[in-house]
Amino acid sequence: MRFFTKKDKKDGEKKPRPGWQKALLAGAGALVVGSCDVPPAAPALPPAAPEQPGSSAEMPHNFQTQQIATNNCKPVSTLVNSRQIPSVSSVFTRMAEQPLSGAGVITLLGNSANRVEACTSPDLPDDDLIATYESTTRRLIVGTRNVRPVTVAHESFHAYQHLTGGFRGVSSNQLLSPGDRATGMLLIEATAAAYANVVLYEMKFTDPDYHRRHGRTYDYGMGPTFENTFNQSYAANEGLGEPERRRLALEAAGQAVVRALLNGQSSEWRTLYRPEAARYLTLPAQYAPRDSEGYLATRSAMYARIGQVAPGLQLIPAEFLGAGAEDAIRANHAAFRMTPPAPVATYSLRWRPPAA
Ligand SMILES: [Zn+2]
Repeated sequence: MRFFTKKDKKDGEKKPRPGWQKALLAGAGALVVGSCDVPPAAPALPPAAPEQPGSSAEMPHNFQTQQIATNNCKPVSTLVNSRQIPSVSSVFTRMAEQPLSGAGVITLLGNSANRVEACTSPDLPDDDLIATYESTTRRLIVGTRNVRPVTVAHESFHAYQHLTGGFRGVSSNQLLSPGDRATGMLLIEATAAAYANVVLYEMKFTDPDYHRRHGRTYDYGMGPTFENTFNQSYAANEGLGEPERRRLALEAAGQAVVRALLNGQSSEWRTLYRPEAARYLTLPAQYAPRDSEGYLATRSAMYARIGQVAPGLQLIPAEFLGAGAEDAIRANHAAFRMTPPAPVATYSLRWRPPAA
């Protein structure tokens, strides 16, 4: 499972060099697509077939075989307050100082039991827009220089999503319907984009100088969406204590970015991620009837896990959670011109709710 960011670019900046993906994936076979590689499909199973964990024979996009060459890998715990891999260290050090959105993420990534490393790769072009999180090796990989803080923060959230189980609903073919997996994939990407904005914006209060220099990088034209929402929420909650006021404003601003991206507000983002999302529509999946209580609870739990930064910081907008999420999901499919396949009744035969 690997996530790429090549495209986190400022509005109006030049496009990333066109040949990057080809070069990066040379020899990788018939691969994909977009900038962030998304969770690979679990093995395709016919509806009533027994589960085959670990089987990769039918995996159409087997990312497991395409690890990127890396050098200079360091455990995340050694990167905070150090000068190792400066482009990553400097961001992780600041993230660790953000009580709402950064400290918990860095603590989890830095826990040695989780074995997450950051590495540089000679295979990645020296382009500040490119980085990747490779879940098979638990490595956040950057080029050898010039990686933007917003890109490092984006990939670190993919690592966090991986460790907290946020990939599960999308990567499993035993939980969600193809249409809900497609929207889930988009939520994984949109929350990573929103997270990078949130954690860099929190630095406004803890490290204003760094925030001024690096914290106002908004990709896909999301700057006004984020900052206007932040300012409105912050102003509206004047009566609350500062930490709570800040938390609500960061959460609202992050959710506004996710909502805008899922609604197709950025045609650039939509063009980038639609192919990978739409791929899930073509994969067989087993799932309970979509209107059953168990299914709706499962979907809500899986989506919530994608966007939960901390106990009080959820980046998934409320309309995508709970039993009423149907409308928001349908609107997402319409905005991305995705038509989910009709449900197959037998898919529910072997379905069980996942363990919490
Ligand atoms: Zn991504």
